[in-house]
Amino acid sequence: MRLRNIKGCREIIAASRYTIAEERGGRTSFEDRYSWSVKGRWTEIFENDHPVRIEIGMGKGAFLMELARRHPQINYVGIEKYSSVLLRAVQKQDQEELPNVRLIRMEAENINDVFAPGEVDRIYLNFSDPWPKEAHASRRLTSRIFLERYRGILKEQGKIEFKTDNKELFAFSMEEANAAGWKILAMTEDLHNDPDLMKDNIMTEYETRWSQEGKAICAMHLERP
Ligand code: SAH
Repeated sequence: MRLRNIKGCREIIAASRYTIAEERGGRTSFEDRYSWSVKGRWTEIFENDHPVRIEIGMGKGAFLMELARRHPQINYVGIEKYSSVLLRAVQKQDQEELPNVRLIRMEAENINDVFAPGEVDRIYLNFSDPWPKEAHASRRLTSRIFLERYRGILKEQGKIEFKTDNKELFAFSMEEANAAGWKILAMTEDLHNDPDLMKDNIMTEYETRWSQEGKAICAMHLERP
């Protein structure tokens, strides 16, 4: 998802009380090498020790914010790489001010700079970019490289919940999860006709769009090795 560049959007994001500021590491001016001062400090940021759950590639944030409304005793951090997309979530959150939500503009591959080992209770991946070319397989957010990064931040028995409409990405993710020793707790290739998994389902923006077009939604729940 990429929206056109929106003037002033970085400033709006930086000014929000609910976003995490990037700090220059000093070594390089490359944006994604910025350092973060939040790693290991999430209980301070939320001012409580409730579980922290994150969504990587949150888009405009409808899913994360609905989770946060339903579960005030859980903290949620939304991650999105494009500021033009994150802006939509920031604007909603600046109005609604859910105390258990924070938002970060960052590239997922730097996730281990932002969360310490065991700091995250669950990771949501919804409709992640499929990167269909084989040469780009390592960029898929469910590749074994990413799974290893996630293992480094999830607590023991921490989980990933993954949804996609893309059958190839789903099959790839299953292979990667097996290869990396993750336990597959649940999986379906037709989520919307699976009463158990649908019980607490919250539709994402992409899920609404693709299911209206008649596409089946695949879902998988994994547990950390
Ligand atoms: N989760 C939303 C959006 C899905 S589109 C929904 O289901 O409706 C995938 C989103 O992930 C896009 O907004 C894209 O910008 C973001 N994204 C893709 N790769 C990313 C990465 N490496 N790091 C952070 N965000 C990423």
